[in-house]
Formats: sequence, structure tokens, C-alpha cells
Amino acid sequence: SLAQGRSYLAIPGPSVMPDRVLNAMHRAAPNIYEGDLIEMTAQVMTDLRRVALSSGHVAIYLANGHGAWEAAISNLFSRGDTALSLITGRFGVGWAHHARALGVTVETLDFGIKAPVDPARVEAALRADTARKIKVVLLTHVDTASSVRNDVAAVRAAIDAAGHPALLAVDCIASLGCDEFRFDDWGVDVMVAASQKGLMVPPGLGFVWVSDKAVAACKGADLVTPYWDWRPRIFAQEYWQQFGGTAPTHHLFGLSEALRMILDEEGLPQVWARHRTLSRSVAAAFEAWGQGGDIALNVPVAAHRSGAVTAARIGQGGAERLRGWCETEAGVTLGIGLGMAAPGTPEAGDFLRLGHMGHVNAHMVLGALAVMEAGLQALGIAHGRGGIQSAAAVIAAG
Ligand SMILES: *Cc1c(COP(=O)(O)O)cnc(C)c1O
Repeated sequence: SLAQGRSYLAIPGPSVMPDRVLNAMHRAAPNIYEGDLIEMTAQVMTDLRRVALSSGHVAIYLANGHGAWEAAISNLFSRGDTALSLITGRFGVGWAHHARALGVTVETLDFGIKAPVDPARVEAALRADTARKIKVVLLTHVDTASSVRNDVAAVRAAIDAAGHPALLAVDCIASLGCDEFRFDDWGVDVMVAASQKGLMVPPGLGFVWVSDKAVAACKGADLVTPYWDWRPRIFAQEYWQQFGGTAPTHHLFGLSEALRMILDEEGLPQVWARHRTLSRSVAAAFEAWGQGGDIALNVPVAAHRSGAVTAARIGQGGAERLRGWCETEAGVTLGIGLGMAAPGTPEAGDFLRLGHMGHVNAHMVLGALAVMEAGLQALGIAHGRGGIQSAAAVIAAG
């Protein structure tokens, strides 16, 4: 095997963590009552607003993305309230499921797994809601299962065009720090994210950004419990209230370092541009391979693809065989397909995902793609020539 050496986990989260982030976490337990941690946390709160381009509030939870989902839902709704959930993949289904399980009546609009939300259907559904029962529209910016990227501003425009008062809540767990996202400019009311994807920190922190309008609109929502309540966290009088108890001390040090890298060193527009270019180079390789084999990107239209993750199909179980080869023969772990085919069916092994979120550069992406091309050859999976040449051309053009 040629897998010895530093291995590369190229799945869509947890993402690659910079050594600087890990080193920032490597320290003795800090005092949680006074000193560095307290000052640093105030800057982290400011930087979290900056990374979302939000002038609103942010609440931090010791939780993963699933926890952030429930945090948002429990503050947004009272039992029996109605949500309109817009589905473009497995993660949209998951958020809707959590809402339903918590006691929300969830209506869904399903757009399949290959194209983004159609704003015209959203507008029509909201116009049809003459009783104005829908309190919140739930949207996933990038559904990590399908790699479809939705147009958040267009969904906001559809809500406004219908003259509907519904709030807009967006899951940016995959996209924050990868794909362009503008909380204020796009009229978002609530947004959720987590630490272990574009933010390059180990799993363990969930975040909820909240507009002033949403804070006011959700006052009295009766699904909320003391731990998940965003108000003490947002309007904390004491340090510990920001976390509902002991602070996630080491994660905060790591996050502080990661936000400095994103915001103050590389710069958010440059971070978005890097992800876009890397994603286009991945797409170029798959398109070339697809010229001579049963290989295709999941999302056919380039403008609908995410910069954070690419989902693709390699027929006759090729995806599953290729994943195995890349891991055991070359030290690269690719992501499994999620929610693309029913488990146990012959198609279940036809899908994979390549994560290119966070601390990822051209040599890592080109390396992963070259390994995949070697795997296609080694396994005798039919594919078009020139995948790596096409990917390199995208990188060369910048
Ligand atoms: C990863 C992800 C989640 C789930 O996050 P966990 O931290 O695994 O709980 C939810 N939504 C999207 C879009 C994601 O990418």
C-alpha cells in the first residue's frame, strides 16, 4: 500500500483542522471567572458576527449541528406552530424531522436532490397560506448530502413578494466560512452553524445567529427550555450565562485562532473565492471522467453547486469501491453518499462526496483528485481521460 504518510480526511466535516487551531487549544485549563478567556470571548462574539456579516446577536451552545437545529427550533416556535420546510437533500429532511418531533407542524416543499429551491413555489405556498399560519421558513443554504447550494436572497425575496410575515431561518452548517453568506443583506432572521466545517475547529460548538426582529417575534415561544433559551446567552449579565454553564474553554481558544485566520489574515472574500475555485477544479475532473464512463456530478448546473462539498455518482458500485481503494492504497478518505439511494439497494454504493471545506488548498484538492484518478485506473472503472489536466487548468487560471 502507498497509504503510509499523513492521511487526509476529505469528508464534508469534520474538516481539516489547522495546526495553529490545535496548538491554540493545547493549554492548561484557564480560569473561567477572570482573565484572558473572558476578554477573548468578547472578541470571538464580535468575530462570529463578522463571519456571518450580521449586526444581530449570536448564541453559542456546547453542541453539534443537530443541537443547533434544536436550539433554533425551540426558540422559534410554540407547540402547534407551523413551519414551511424547503428540502434539497437529506439535511433539510433532518431539520424538518427535529422540528416535527419537538411539536411543530411542518409543511414541506421538496425540490429533489439535484437543483435548488424554486422561489416561485415558495411564493405560491406562502400566498396560499391566507391564514398566515406559517411562522418560519426553514432553508438549508448548502445541503451537504446533495451539495446543492440555495439562493438565500431569492427565498427572502419570495417571502416578501408574497407579503408574508414568516421569518427566514437558514442552516449554514456546511457553508459558513466556505460559500458567500450575508445575514443582514439577505434578510435572514435566524442562522445556525457548527464549529467543525468551514470554521475549522473540532466538533463541539453549535451557533445560532438571531436578528433583533426574530428575538422580538419569538418572545414567549413555549418550546424553549432553560438550556436552549437564546436570551440569557445573547443578553448575558454573567460570563457563564453565555454558555448555560461552564464555557467550552478550549474550543473557544481554537475558534478565536480560526476566526483570526479567516477574517484578519486571508479575508472572507478571499476565503469564498478559494472555495469557489477549488470546487470548480473538482467539477472539472468529474466532468472529464464522465466523458468516458458512468460518472457524473450530482448537481448538473454549475451555478447551483457549493464551494464546500461535491457529491457525485460512479455507477455499478464504483463510488464505494473507489472510496475503499483511496483509503487503503493512498491514505485519502472520501465521504460516503448520504440520502441519494435507499440503503441495501444496488445503487447504494454509487455515490460519494469530496469535502473541500475550510483549511484546504490547491495541493490537497489536486492530490485527492489525482488519487481518485489512480483509483479509477487501478479498479478498471471506465472513465474519460484528462481529469487531472482539466482540474489543473482551473487552478492555473485561478
Ligand atoms: C453537518 C451538517 C449538519 C449536522 O451537523 P452535526 O454537527 O453533524 O450535527 C446539519 N446540516 C448541514 C447542512 C450539515 O452540513
